[in-house]
Amino acid sequence: MLNFPIYLDNNSTTKVDMLALEAMLPYFTENYGNSSSKSHQFGWKAEAAVNIARKQTAKLISCEPRDIIFTSGATESINLALKGAAEAYATKGNHIITTKIEHEAVIDSCNHLEAKGFNVTYVDVDHNGIVSIEEIERAITSNTILVSVMWANNEIGTIQPVKEISKLCRLKKILFHTDATQAVGKIPIDLSKIHIDLLSFSSHKLYGPKGVGALYKSGKLPRVRIVRQTDGGAQEKGLRAGTLNVPGIVGFGKACQISADCMNKEAKSIKTLRNRLLEGINSGVNGVKVNGDLHSRLPGNLNLSIPGIDADSLIIAMKDVAVSTGSACSSESVEPSHVLKAIGLDKDSMRSAIRFGIGRFNTSEEIEYVINCITEKVNNFRENSPSNISPFANEGGNNNKVNKGDYAEV
Ligand SMILES: *Cc1c(COP(=O)(O)O)cnc(C)c1O
Repeated sequence: MLNFPIYLDNNSTTKVDMLALEAMLPYFTENYGNSSSKSHQFGWKAEAAVNIARKQTAKLISCEPRDIIFTSGATESINLALKGAAEAYATKGNHIITTKIEHEAVIDSCNHLEAKGFNVTYVDVDHNGIVSIEEIERAITSNTILVSVMWANNEIGTIQPVKEISKLCRLKKILFHTDATQAVGKIPIDLSKIHIDLLSFSSHKLYGPKGVGALYKSGKLPRVRIVRQTDGGAQEKGLRAGTLNVPGIVGFGKACQISADCMNKEAKSIKTLRNRLLEGINSGVNGVKVNGDLHSRLPGNLNLSIPGIDADSLIIAMKDVAVSTGSACSSESVEPSHVLKAIGLDKDSMRSAIRFGIGRFNTSEEIEYVINCITEKVNNFRENSPSNISPFANEGGNNNKVNKGDYAEV
């Protein structure tokens, strides 16, 4: 049986797993202690729960629990990593390298650092949305202190050659940070095998609660230094002041444990659903283009441009399916997605881009429903487009002229 609306926006956020929620509940009610309180049982219980969560979180990425710093989410982790490292290494150099397809948290932190006098190079990606090692190597100068490249992209799902970049940075003795928010829990990450200095991730992208995340800071030598960005208590080894979000951290830890246990199987079934969605849409709708490399890609992500269609109008027409336009973040602003721009899409393709994010709780019935829904709406739009010019309209359409600037609107 289908339940509406259907949620297909798992790159934006995910539903909290019931087991994670259940693990959290006692830390709102009986065990509401402050994990920094050393003088009584309430504090000890909270601290013990945080320690367990720290182990669960570390295990998912195969790192040492002591290398995990809990934060309020990936945005804070990224701010702490980039600003904290820039401040700590400012005497060594003032150059930072990142890419044109990073999340706003990285881009805005870098902009902030530019205003403080750092130089930032934003390297290009290719048409498939993959950054090249050569581009990064070319950008490195004697002043480069930090490279930040996301593990997987939140809009087009592309997976970056993180292992090669980490090797390059190690060789050049440059710090490497990766925003792994979309990757952790979805694809294998083993920090015992890849040397990464700083790695940011978030609970709510992997079926944990919102408002909690982590920064991994390598404990290996040579020591990675960051300067704390909030003043206050000595929590998290003095690197992140403020009372810990104990229930949130407990839920995050549980979510990490669940992901570690079922990741391989889940990735396979989600990828099957994703491929079926693409195949189904392709067989009902002409001219669909996949944005971003289809192979080096997160299993649950699909970003499509549907020529002749205005994505906003299509999404409004599909009331009972929750998807987003090319980028969830850009939907709040009028600017087109910087990621779709970076992979070289023209205006039409950007305007017609839709992002699907398939997750743990989606079913094949839902995918079939969405295929039918998209097929019907798109073909309807194309047939009824104001100028009736869509080159992709089906038989019923009047396709006598191709006019790129026209869109089908509701
Ligand atoms: C969601 C996301 C973030 C921000 O995470 P929050 O925990 O919501 O602050 C950062 N980077 C990427 C790639 C994301 O997908």
